[in-house]
Amino acid sequence: QGTVVLAATPIGNTSDASARLIALMEHADIVAAEDTRRLYDLANRLGVHVNGRVVAYHDHNERDKADGLLDNVETGATVLVVSDAGMPTINDPGLAIVRRAIERGLPVTCAPGPSAVLDALALSGLPTDRFCYEGFLPRKHSERMQHLRMLRSERRTIVFYETLHRIADSMDDLLESFGPDRRMALCRELTKDYEQIRRGTIGEIHNSVRNDPPRGEMVLVIEGASDEEVNENTPNVLSIEELAELAA
Ligand code: SAM
Repeated sequence: QGTVVLAATPIGNTSDASARLIALMEHADIVAAEDTRRLYDLANRLGVHVNGRVVAYHDHNERDKADGLLDNVETGATVLVVSDAGMPTINDPGLAIVRRAIERGLPVTCAPGPSAVLDALALSGLPTDRFCYEGFLPRKHSERMQHLRMLRSERRTIVFYETLHRIADSMDDLLESFGPDRRMALCRELTKDYEQIRRGTIGEIHNSVRNDPPRGEMVLVIEGASDEEVNENTPNVLSIEELAELAA
């Protein structure tokens, strides 16, 4: 029996490729890549020869392709799954093959490495002991506002992925939903030459985005709700003071 290996690829700095990723790119029987051209581009930069069969494995075909790839695992193949950047399955293809491997009782493992969510969280300076990853906010303003409203009482540090096209609108909605005072970090071009972390309050970062629109890839990390905000935003829940009164 073979195995499925999910492997993280660099999110900007080629030197972040692990020795394990390099060995897998060289020796896997099949490489399922989100974009085959990007896989070969990475291989070139790393000076690696990809010996196995390369197949396109992306959002649009991952459900259809998963079982065929797993048939190969059943007969002994190592199937390497990589996305364009970072960890497969994290807003990237990979989940379908993991699920089917579990259902079919086939081995699946991971060669971990770069992922923008943990990189940004660690650099944000905000609490890291508890956090929630929210992926991309909805595209439509009304859905985004509804989603943010739902998150207003979230106490954990919140991580969003964002794009340069929507950052200004998202910052408007974040300001309106969470107010100007919470701390946040806008982390862009992580691991690249022009890496930049803007730290401040939501109000400050909102201004900064207006005055100097950030380019490239970016992650937003937002401080979780304080006790006061939780009490204000969830009127159905007893406040700490009310609970203390009841307990007394
Ligand atoms: N699988 C990837 C991971 O593990 O981070 C995420 C893929 S998702 C399609 C792409 C998003 O990740 C970008 O829009 C951005 O929000 C974030 N991202 C990826 N690379 C980044 C980088 N170098 N700097 C900042 N954000 C990055």
